[in-house]
Amino acid sequence: EPELVGDFAVLMGWADRHRRMKVRTNAETPADCRMARQFGAEGIGLCRTEHMFFDAKRISAVRQMILAEDESGRRAALAKLLPEQRADFREIFEVMAGLPVTIRLLDPPLHEFLPHGDAEFAELSDAIGVGVDTLKRRAEELHEFNPMLGHRGCRLGITFPEIYEMQARAIFEAACEVAAASGEAVVPEVMIPLVATRRELQILRALVDRVAAQVFAEQGRTLDYLVGTMIELPRAALMAGEIAAEATFFSFGTNDLTQTTLGVSRDDAARFLGPYVEQGIYPRDPFVSLDIDGVGQLVSLAAERGRQTRPEIKLGICGEHGGDPASIAFCEQTGLDYVSASPYRVPIARLAAAQAALG
Ligand code: PEP
Ligand code: MG
Repeated sequence: EPELVGDFAVLMGWADRHRRMKVRTNAETPADCRMARQFGAEGIGLCRTEHMFFDAKRISAVRQMILAEDESGRRAALAKLLPEQRADFREIFEVMAGLPVTIRLLDPPLHEFLPHGDAEFAELSDAIGVGVDTLKRRAEELHEFNPMLGHRGCRLGITFPEIYEMQARAIFEAACEVAAASGEAVVPEVMIPLVATRRELQILRALVDRVAAQVFAEQGRTLDYLVGTMIELPRAALMAGEIAAEATFFSFGTNDLTQTTLGVSRDDAARFLGPYVEQGIYPRDPFVSLDIDGVGQLVSLAAERGRQTRPEIKLGICGEHGGDPASIAFCEQTGLDYVSASPYRVPIARLAAAQAALG
């Protein structure tokens, strides 16, 4: 496993003495969490739970869930996924040993999990005893013209609350188990994605609180936990004052915030952004280095409005920009509490955060 040694470790130690912002990591596997800790990560800023759903052993239950006829079918499939999801979170809490862990509930459009091709449909049909034609019809119903602007993020939790209930249960059961075994505090941070309105967060926070209360009653133990949201849509940034009434933390999802503010698809931008950068229309690729003049205004405005409602609100960034030095300098100026970067960018983020604090 890579680790920081020798002069490099000494340099990083110096940087840490001058840093104000914490540096967390974006990670969802125990191996990445371990590596990020070796690099000095002080917590997880973004655990993208959808990555866990692609695991070969559980994709069939995931597909069964999304193609189920009704809620009871979905609940049956989710019951199969619960033990696996609980084990995912248990391992992460163990590796992170009491450091903060932000777990984001399911975000992507469900069609991402669909079977591909006849063979996979036939296999799923055999596994769950539903005809191929029925499965294909239901798969077609999931088709969206603009999935990135569609049925994803918290909208899934509103339409299919049982999905978020399973995930919340897995988080709190895992946290209780690890707290009981280690005797140490485990404080899960549950993050709701793609929120645009206060009401969405109100409904989903109530769901998380309800599940937490159930699990704590079953386990005979209570834990502190936080519920917060991504700020990754312009409306959420503008309405941050209201949204903060329901959120103990904000994490700026600057990938989606850049996409939705510039009206540029993050998945297709590579086709046309080259000339934009060459001609100085954008000084750098805005998906790498935060568009400080535009997207940055939404970030600082949301930070300000969030703090007006809730002065102690915790603020971080978990878009790719959290590992980019120029963007990190902006985060320092905006007074964010932490940046979260992919594991290999954690050392750069520690240096950049120190430089920004000194500058
Ligand atoms: C973001 O949108 O900035 C973010 C961190 O979430 P994701 O990249 O998973 O959409
Ligand atoms: Mg996002």
